Amino acid sequence: MATVTQYDVLSVLKRMAAPDGRGNVVSAGLVSDIAIQGGTVMFALTTSPQHVKTMEALRGAVEKAVLGIPGVDKAMVALTAERAPQQPGQPPQPQVQRGTGIPGIKHLIAVASGKGGVGKSTTAVNLALALKSLGLKVAVLDADVYGPSIPKLFGLTGKPEPSSAAGKKMKPMTRYGVEVMSIGFLVPEDTAMIWRGPMVMSALTQLLRDTEWGESDVMVIDMPPGTGDVQLTLAQQTPLAGAVIVSTPQDLALIDARKGLNMFAKVNVPVIGIVENMSYFVCTKCGERHEIFGHGGAREEASRIGVPFLGEIPLDKEVRLRSDSGEPVVATQPDSLHTALYRDVARQVWASLQGGQLARPAPRIVVDGQ
Ligand code: ADP
Repeated sequence: MATVTQYDVLSVLKRMAAPDGRGNVVSAGLVSDIAIQGGTVMFALTTSPQHVKTMEALRGAVEKAVLGIPGVDKAMVALTAERAPQQPGQPPQPQVQRGTGIPGIKHLIAVASGKGGVGKSTTAVNLALALKSLGLKVAVLDADVYGPSIPKLFGLTGKPEPSSAAGKKMKPMTRYGVEVMSIGFLVPEDTAMIWRGPMVMSALTQLLRDTEWGESDVMVIDMPPGTGDVQLTLAQQTPLAGAVIVSTPQDLALIDARKGLNMFAKVNVPVIGIVENMSYFVCTKCGERHEIFGHGGAREEASRIGVPFLGEIPLDKEVRLRSDSGEPVVATQPDSLHTALYRDVARQVWASLQGGQLARPAPRIVVDGQ
């Protein structure tokens, strides 16, 4: 098979006219860095909110032209929003260019954290399974391209199958009754780490839009950790109904959670609430509750800034072991304390999505000798 080069791609792109008579898409500066992996070509086209409709047509045409290059079997082209010109002395204002809905999916929610390692993915998986246990249809999208851990957490391996209907689409994988799609199914784990913003967006656009999702009440999106440009663009371009922020009680993690709140506020995505993970530790021997990281910080912070507090999940060896072996607690230990706590979070999330008032703060469950 022919090896695809940047030159091949650029030559084709230079023949594509930019909007408003601005020459071609390359000379108009609309094309991001181009990433090529085997027969897959990925890049982004820059647009502004008022041009989204015309640019969507151009995006389709560009994708088709790139697919015509010998050796290309997949073209992933995303639209990325241009930043508004910054006024002197003003903070940068991201432009809202929310994507259109995903057919079949009623509500999309993001699970986010200000930094890595706080249990965001574990929370996303168990929240998804808890929503499922409430009788809802659920899908999970792993958008954490820098460290896609969802396949491992669900115990899924292998590659998604192409959809039988529309040749270009993929079927999501299914586990524990939940539809799952992850970049981890498509590229080796270490490849995505080096991607820059536009690559991430084009990969995610493809995952979201080129997967043949079934009908779902909720899609849980596991966001990349942090609050940088990639996360902001993702929050901006995905039609999110809301976001759940995961934080540990340590000060530092809380400061980062605040950054997460600000990020969603900037792009007008409502924050459904905060979950405090690794909140406390119940000793398996003495049954006593140890508040290793100080505990309760997220609850206080939530009340201070007027965001619902959704609950606290204890630090527990079982959660870790089961997460890491692809048997998440909510699916495999339905009667455990953890499952009850995650279901409580799920109930509040669902009530919030239904536009209902959050009836009450999460109950503080005290366990003796769990
Ligand atoms: P993130 O997505 O924020 O990077 P992960 O969900 O991958 O975090 O969790 C990081 C590690 O912490 C994993 O090994 C996971 O099993 C573990 N972990 C997460 N939540 C808990 C918890 N409540 N108790 C014990 N271990 C946990």
